[in-house]
Amino acid sequence: MSLSNGRTYLAIPGPSVVPDAVLRAMHRASPNIYEGELPDMMDGLMRDLRRVARTEGHVAIYISNGHGAWEAALANTVAAGEKVLVLATGFFAMAWSRIAEARGIDVDVLDFGNGGTFDLDRVRETLKADSAHAYKAVMAVHVDTSSSNRNEFAPLRAILDELNHPALLMADCIAAMGCDRFEMDAWGVDVAMTSSQKGLMCPPGLGFVFFNDKAAEVRRRMNRVSTYWDWTQRAAPEAFYQYFSGTAPTHHLYGLRTALDMIHEEGLEAIWARHATLARAIWAAVEHWGKDGPLRLNIADPALRSHAVTALAIGKPYGTQLRRWCSDQAGVTLGIGLGMANEDDPQSDGYFRFGHMGHVNAHMILGLLGVVEAGLGVLGIPHCAGGVSEAAKVISGV
Ligand SMILES: *Cc1c(COP(=O)(O)O)cnc(C)c1O
Repeated sequence: MSLSNGRTYLAIPGPSVVPDAVLRAMHRASPNIYEGELPDMMDGLMRDLRRVARTEGHVAIYISNGHGAWEAALANTVAAGEKVLVLATGFFAMAWSRIAEARGIDVDVLDFGNGGTFDLDRVRETLKADSAHAYKAVMAVHVDTSSSNRNEFAPLRAILDELNHPALLMADCIAAMGCDRFEMDAWGVDVAMTSSQKGLMCPPGLGFVFFNDKAAEVRRRMNRVSTYWDWTQRAAPEAFYQYFSGTAPTHHLYGLRTALDMIHEEGLEAIWARHATLARAIWAAVEHWGKDGPLRLNIADPALRSHAVTALAIGKPYGTQLRRWCSDQAGVTLGIGLGMANEDDPQSDGYFRFGHMGHVNAHMILGLLGVVEAGLGVLGIPHCAGGVSEAAKVISGV
């Protein structure tokens, strides 16, 4: 017998749960792309996207996933042969750096490992040594979805300003924009990117690049940018087709309209607070289970943890066994461990991740944790029973 029939919960860190209202908004006949409702919707979409990123700057939309947004951000700002500095706290920063390398960009990486955040002294030293200002951009990830750490950007802006260094500050916000607090303008970020399928609660397929006037000026000085990746027309088009350099992602735009309505109706501050509380509930459960057994939150310092995704160590081969049991027996799919492989554990079998981003509420998180606690018991994975009660205390304490 399986107990998995019923509504499933894809609890991986993207794609995330898509609200029924978003799905309903997409379920319609093909709209006209030359006039009428869809072209008329664009001004409002652009405005409301900028509100989510907390910026008065510009936004360009791409028919792409997050990788496309990575590509777009670099295509507009850094030429082949120029140099960038990547600050890495996990797998995703390294993946973005490989895209830069493939574009012929000269990449220096400061690797801070998988367990925390940047060492600001090292960042300052490295930028200070670059007195010729060879670095055109400092690239960093807001929430690295592999390690589930969260990085601060205001301190990076402070260092660049203190050194009078002109490099653009670029933030990959793909994991957690709309989940973890992010303030593009207030934190001095020049280029930020995200995509539709995580905090924005839509299916995968839209990439967003936000940029300020300083970054727009860098783009103007670039020798050559392919028409497709150029953000200039996309951000300030004269005709509807220029938003997308071709046919619009018609149905995605209806889904996005509804998702943005939901976000602004709840309010970003309230959304951030909801994610913070649900994340604390998860941490409380895991810390309790870990009192007697191998379960450990990957990020030890709560101040450095994301509220959208949680990476955990559980020991090989328990991670893979637990994920299998939860999906086969309970309809909950947990995220694989990513970027945690080592010689003893080439497949990251000893890790897994909870995705708790976007359209997620208390009953889903308590259900998720209840399923995991059942799985730990059935599979004989050592743990201290009662983690779900600890999570319930967090949720009932609100
Ligand atoms: C999901 C994610 C990406 C990659 O996005 P895709 O849509 O899979 O291309 C990049 N960076 C971060 C931080 C992510 O969470």
